[in-house]
Amino acid sequence: MAIQCDNNNDYPDFAQRRQIVLDALEKYSKENTSIVPSGFVDFRLRELYYFVEAIVSHGADLFFKEKEYEEFTHLLRLFIDQKESREQILHVIWQNDDVRLCNKRGRDVTVKYEKEFYQAAAEKGISREDLAISAIIAAAPEKLVLHSPPESSPLKDALQKIFGEKCKVCTGCNICKNS
Ligand SMILES: [Zn+2]
Repeated sequence: MAIQCDNNNDYPDFAQRRQIVLDALEKYSKENTSIVPSGFVDFRLRELYYFVEAIVSHGADLFFKEKEYEEFTHLLRLFIDQKESREQILHVIWQNDDVRLCNKRGRDVTVKYEKEFYQAAAEKGISREDLAISAIIAAAPEKLVLHSPPESSPLKDALQKIFGEKCKVCTGCNICKNS
């Protein structure tokens, strides 16, 4: 799926991206006085992408006021809940300076999910972690297991926030030992 920008290949700057996300949030809140996940189907990948890119690159504190961040992660959780899971379990493995994704059989599925975002990554120069979080949301796993995340990791923080109970941090296993 290609990432589209309205303003002809010009990637919006930080303030514009923030506005796009806030507009989407406001629009959704107006249209949905109660929580109706099916109403979220139309939520576009672009806003989602700007959101995850922003929180990983800039940190949630800088991008959102706390309440906005809470609301947005809530919407993102609804989005993931109503999206069909493409993996039962997804293992997120931090290895050297890289992040790999493996499915429940231990097969590396990093490229499978990240390739949807390669074009955007090449055009916009997005970071390794932005690519990973976009891919993880695209996979919408039923469970997420984080192996050997760094102590301070915006990616880990964002995943825990977005996936909530579905996200566990491994306390030590063979995957961790080898990473
Ligand atoms: Zn582990």
